[in-house]
Amino acid sequence: MEFYVNIGQEVLKLLKEEITEVEYNRYIKQLKYDENSSTSDMAIYYAPNALVSNWIKSKFTKKLEHLFEIKTGNKVSIVITLKEQAIQNVNKKIAVEEKKAIHSLLNPSHTFDNFMVGGSNQFAYAATKSVSEKAGELYNPLFIYGGVGLGKTHLMQAAGNVFQNQGKVVIYITLEQFLNDFSRALRNKTMERFREKYRKCDVLLVDDIQFLSSKELLQEEFFHTFEALRGVGKQIIITADKHPKKIAGLEERLQSRFEWGLVADIQPPELETKIAIIESKSKINKVKLTKEIINYIATVIDSNVREIEGILSKLHAYSQLMHVDIDLAFTKNVLRDQMQENRENITLEGITQVVAKDLNIKPSDIRSKGRSKNIVYARRICIYLCRELTQNTMPTLAQYFGMKDHTAISHTLKKINSLMQNDEDFKVKIEELTNKITSAS
Ligand code: ADP
Ligand code: MG
Repeated sequence: MEFYVNIGQEVLKLLKEEITEVEYNRYIKQLKYDENSSTSDMAIYYAPNALVSNWIKSKFTKKLEHLFEIKTGNKVSIVITLKEQAIQNVNKKIAVEEKKAIHSLLNPSHTFDNFMVGGSNQFAYAATKSVSEKAGELYNPLFIYGGVGLGKTHLMQAAGNVFQNQGKVVIYITLEQFLNDFSRALRNKTMERFREKYRKCDVLLVDDIQFLSSKELLQEEFFHTFEALRGVGKQIIITADKHPKKIAGLEERLQSRFEWGLVADIQPPELETKIAIIESKSKINKVKLTKEIINYIATVIDSNVREIEGILSKLHAYSQLMHVDIDLAFTKNVLRDQMQENRENITLEGITQVVAKDLNIKPSDIRSKGRSKNIVYARRICIYLCRELTQNTMPTLAQYFGMKDHTAISHTLKKINSLMQNDEDFKVKIEELTNKITSAS
């Protein structure tokens, strides 16, 4: 039978044999070995006060090291410390970690005034604006969803800025930051603090909640945070890239709660809204553009508004660098480069990976000859996107996807086109994936 041995105490017993009784009773006897924090090469003892600690450190460290080596066969370093000090250090470390992790700050230029309203985002705008006027009273939660770069974060933070100016405690956090914070709390055994932090705020803004998908433990925790806040009328605003019903692997109870308040979508902006956004951004960024140029940019870029800022700063930088005014020819050149760059970054492998991840299958399955429903579905989507988003020819695609020849590809493309016409959900899926791929590159 094996008996449990406290190695730290064993070593102290051995030491007792080697020193005087007075030394033992006055100093060594007062040491407590910390089994949990000690490791195979570091032994941690707590002393009751600095005097005892210093005395032992200077007189017995060598002996203790020696005894540990005899007992364990390892070279072990001895740490003699004060309990409070050790705890303090750990707490300090945790506090610093938490501080780093806690909510990113709100962007002060994300305001309602800076948000251009058009048919595509009017509903989400109106909903967020009214929530910002009556925290917790109107729609709780407010759930905003839509594609990449359409202004979800902007709107959510605009409300956050209003609340913050009223002196409310606002936490803005992406779901990924929430996850990191949660994992850290589990690891450091500081769940109490974690919960207190999120339940103490007046307004909780959680961005990109679609990443809750299939994370059971996190969903459980988020559920309780949600209940605690909503129960006392604290406002919650959530964004996602899709409707709560469409987030795969989301618990029923969360899905239904997300729909309790108001669900508002944002659609890709129409031309006029794009024009308004470009005008507003060029003012904010102090880039002078003529109407003609603004119109041109609006027609060339697709729905992702995030691109606009990139384009403006590029225009600005180039014109400064080359000492030229931003005219239409110049703009066309810069934009052509930008589009080219975007496209060149998109590869067949990249597309395959995004599609596989989104549909929860292996990239190698997509390129296999598998005939199961899921695989065929994913392969079709992938072929379509590869054709749309890259310059590859049909024979190249046939080869990449292990198909007989280009007629198989053209057959698939026809199928997809007809599906897009008849199935709204499918069309949305394709748009969503296109956004993901073009914004990732
Ligand atoms: P999302 O969170 O939906 O991916 P963001 O809120 O981050 O998108 O928006 C991307 C960029 O586009 C931000 O700089 C944002 O200010 C800007 N933007 C999006 N929609 C609008 C709008 N309607 N008016 C002004 N700026 C907008
Ligand atoms: Mg966002």
